[in-house]
Amino acid sequence: MTNEITTFADLGIDGVLLKGVESAGMVSPKPIQAQAIPHQLKGHDILGIAQTGSGKTAAFSLPILAQIIPLGDKRKKKTARALILAPTRELAVQIEETIKLISKHAHISTALVLGGVSKLTQIKRMQNGVDVLIATPGRLIDLIRDNCIDLSDTRWLVLDEADRMLDMGFINDVKRIAKMVHAKRQTALFSATMPKEIASLAASLLRDPIRVEVAPQGTTASEITQVVHPVPTKEKRRVLSGLLTNPAMESVIVFTRTKHGADAVTRHLERDGYEVAAIHGNKSQNARQRALKGFRDGSLKILVATDIAARGIDVPGISHVVNYDLPDEPETYVHRIGRTGRNGASGASLTLYDPATENPKLRAVERVIRNRLPIKDAPEPKGELPIRLRPAGEGVPANSNEAQASRAPAKKNRRPNSRPMRAMNENEAAAKNAQRRKPQHQTDAANGEKRSFKRRSRQA
Ligand code: AMP
Repeated sequence: MTNEITTFADLGIDGVLLKGVESAGMVSPKPIQAQAIPHQLKGHDILGIAQTGSGKTAAFSLPILAQIIPLGDKRKKKTARALILAPTRELAVQIEETIKLISKHAHISTALVLGGVSKLTQIKRMQNGVDVLIATPGRLIDLIRDNCIDLSDTRWLVLDEADRMLDMGFINDVKRIAKMVHAKRQTALFSATMPKEIASLAASLLRDPIRVEVAPQGTTASEITQVVHPVPTKEKRRVLSGLLTNPAMESVIVFTRTKHGADAVTRHLERDGYEVAAIHGNKSQNARQRALKGFRDGSLKILVATDIAARGIDVPGISHVVNYDLPDEPETYVHRIGRTGRNGASGASLTLYDPATENPKLRAVERVIRNRLPIKDAPEPKGELPIRLRPAGEGVPANSNEAQASRAPAKKNRRPNSRPMRAMNENEAAAKNAQRRKPQHQTDAANGEKRSFKRRSRQA
C-alpha cells in the first residue's frame, strides 16, 4: 500500500466528531476503522469480521453519527434514528460509553434499553425520541410490544457481535426487529466469526455489503502467550489457587463454561482467601456492574466469568486469561484469550485441560487457531495463598484421600493421538507429597482438595 491512511480526517471524519475522537485519545484509525468508515460514509452496508478490542465500535458509530448530526434536533416521539443491537448488557453499556465519548462535542442523544433493570427510566428516555438507541434484543421487543418504542423511522441498523446473538438464542428476535426497521436503511453487521447461520442472516439483511476483516477468522493475537496445563478435573481448583499465587498474575479473568462452574470456582477461591467476584447470567445487573467496576479499577484482581457474560468486556490491562475448562465451541477460545493482550499490550493465556475428557475440545481449538498449543505441567505455586486454613505444623496423613489423589491422576496424563506427556513417577509423587505437607499454603490448598474429593467433584 502506497497511500497509507493515517488520520481520521483522511477517512472523511471532520468537525465535532474529529474533535471527539481526538479528545477520546484516538489518534490514528485502527485497521477496521480505516477499512469500514469510508464505505459507510458513502452509504454502503458493511459486513465486518472483527473482535471486541479491534476498535469496531468507533468503526460503525462514527459514520452513523456523521450522517445523523446534520439532521438536527427534531426527533419524532418514541423513535430512534439509529439502532445498535448488542447481545449482552455489558457490551451495550460499553457501546454507549464509546458513543458518548466520541460525540462529546455534538448534540447527540442516546438511550440504553436492556434487561435486568427497571423499564420506567428507559420508557421515559425514549419518550421524545433519540438519535442512537443501543439495546439488547429481549427488552427491546418488550418495549416495542408495549408501544414505548417505534422503529419505523430507524434508518441505521447495527448488529454487533452477531455470532454471540446466535449463541444466545437471539437470532429470531433479531430478525423480527430488523423487519420493523425502515426498509430504506443502512445496515452493518459485525461478528468475530462467520458460522453458516450468520452468513445467511447477513445475506438476508445486508444489501451488497462491503466485507471488511481485520484478522482471518480464528486467528489469535500474536502478543498473547498461550500454554496448556494438563490437570485432571478434580485437581483444577487446587491448581488454579496455586497458579494465582504468582505475583505476575495481576489482573486475571477465569473462564468457566457454566454459571454453576463459575460459582463453584468463586467459592473455592474465596475459601482460599482470594478476593474474587463472578459475573454470569444469574447475577443481577447491579452485581455484574459492581464486579466489573472493581475489576476495572484494580481493586478486584480476579474475575470469574462465563463466556456469555464476559463477551465484549473491554477491560484494559488484563494480564492473564485462565481457561478453567475448554469451551464447547472452539471459536470461544479465541474470544476468551482476546480479553488479554489488548491494544498492543502483552498477555498470557493458561488453559487447564483434563487429558482424560477434554482432548477432542483441545484438538478442535487447535484446528480453529491453526496451531498446536504448547503443553506444560503446571508450575509450583510462587508464594503463599492469601489465607491459612490450617494451623501451622499440621500435616495431611500419608494415607489420606488427598495423598492418594495426588498420585492417582498422573497415569491418566496421556493425550491420545498426540505427543505423550510425562507422567509423574512414584518417587516424584512421593517427593511432591512430602513437599506439599511442609509449606503452610500448600497444606491449605490440599485441605480444600480433601473436601472436594469427599463430595465427588463435579465438573464446572
Ligand atoms: P472496541 O473494539 O470498539 O471495543 O474498542 C476497543 C478499545 O480500543 C476501546 O477502549 C476504544 O476506546 C479503543 N480504541 C478504538 N479506536 C481507537 C483508536 N483509533 N485509537 C486508540 N484507541 C482506540
